[in-house]
Amino acid sequence: MFVSENLSVNEKGHLAAGGIDTVSLAEQYGTPLYVMDENLIRNNVRRFKSSIDKYYGGQGLVCYASKAFCCKEMCRIMKDEGIGLDVVSIGELYTAVKAGCDCEKMCFHGNNKTDEELSYALECGVGHIIVDNISELIRLEEIAGEKNITAKIMFRIKPGIDAHTHDFVKTGQIDSKFGFALETGEAFEAVKQAVSCKNVILRGLHCHIGSQIFDIAPFEEAAKVMLGFIAKIKNELDYEIKELNLGGGFGIKYLNEHDPVPFETYMEKVSQVVKSSCAEYGITQPFILIEPGRSIAAPAGITLYKVGARKEIPNIRTYISIDGGMGDNPRYALYKSEYEAVVADKAGEERTEKVTIAGKCCESGDLIGENMPLQHAESGDIIAVCATGAYNYSMSSNYNRIPKPAVVFIKDGQSRVVVKRETLDDIIRNDI
Ligand SMILES: *Cc1c(COP(=O)(O)O)cnc(C)c1O
Repeated sequence: MFVSENLSVNEKGHLAAGGIDTVSLAEQYGTPLYVMDENLIRNNVRRFKSSIDKYYGGQGLVCYASKAFCCKEMCRIMKDEGIGLDVVSIGELYTAVKAGCDCEKMCFHGNNKTDEELSYALECGVGHIIVDNISELIRLEEIAGEKNITAKIMFRIKPGIDAHTHDFVKTGQIDSKFGFALETGEAFEAVKQAVSCKNVILRGLHCHIGSQIFDIAPFEEAAKVMLGFIAKIKNELDYEIKELNLGGGFGIKYLNEHDPVPFETYMEKVSQVVKSSCAEYGITQPFILIEPGRSIAAPAGITLYKVGARKEIPNIRTYISIDGGMGDNPRYALYKSEYEAVVADKAGEERTEKVTIAGKCCESGDLIGENMPLQHAESGDIIAVCATGAYNYSMSSNYNRIPKPAVVFIKDGQSRVVVKRETLDDIIRNDI
């Protein structure tokens, strides 16, 4: 009935998340409110972990891509589950360090890391600095030398795979700001240079071919291409690449018509490709890393809003205005991303209308969606937007000086605040 497995209708006809009445959550904590189901987050992590155990003999590590949803409590949960983290800025790294995460299990990404970021990553002992370009390699060699620390790196490779996803998130092809191209020989030259570096040790290679991908074929293809490159490095440079990071990008269900591949199936299919390619090339099977972000966080989250105005424009559309919008969820404005919405206090009723859900920012494009099937919504109703656990809070802004919502985690019938609602004083905190 709903896109996420933890959602249901309770005896009051209200939407329940993880068995908890969402209308009560809205009353208790106020709106807008991000709600994340900790049990579902943990289950999603365990599905990825167990798929590596089952299909690849446990020879791999899941690194949660924290940019999907990052706060100290989320990092603590990943630590508790024994997995690593993918971070893309000093801010995400700092959050993870403060949450007590093990930096050896981290991947530090970014196409333009600053010297400050590289220094901090070295001091923290980040296990995999994913080097994106030659100037970064040169700077890292120098900074690591000054600090007398060996930098443990991987190279970000563009394997040239078109993942048939939204153009904005397609990153595996040549025209991308991320990584070294294979076809042009750029990646091979970089490997040669790294092998001769004194303060850098090349542990592995990385690729990430896009996001919200529903096909398995591009993942299989990418793995094949990467293993071919590992074989070339072994044959021509006599250097063994021990680790292969295959990135994230696994698709999830935002709408009922979406039909994502079960997470386990990715690892099953990709493991087969890795094993058969290694046998074919005569190379040792690498340790595998994967970096799911959206697929761990998105299905676990919903956002609760209160309806303000209802504006019916005859023969055109009906606007339902809510007390949040692009500040807490910019994804429709950015990508025209679609969501399922429910009137939480009428969740048992039919969706009889198609409406536009509008935010409160001074932008006509500040919408959560258009043509959204919804129960009849009026002022005072609570609207839940589903599967907002990824790239909502983490992409939120204070546009129009609107304070960011709180984040509440629910678990086993209990709820707790893990990120406090911003106050008006938070809004002017850095103003002189
Ligand atoms: C964004 C990103 C991920 C996670 O992507 P999802 O689509 O959220 O799974 C993983 N690795 C890298 C390098 C990324 O940039």
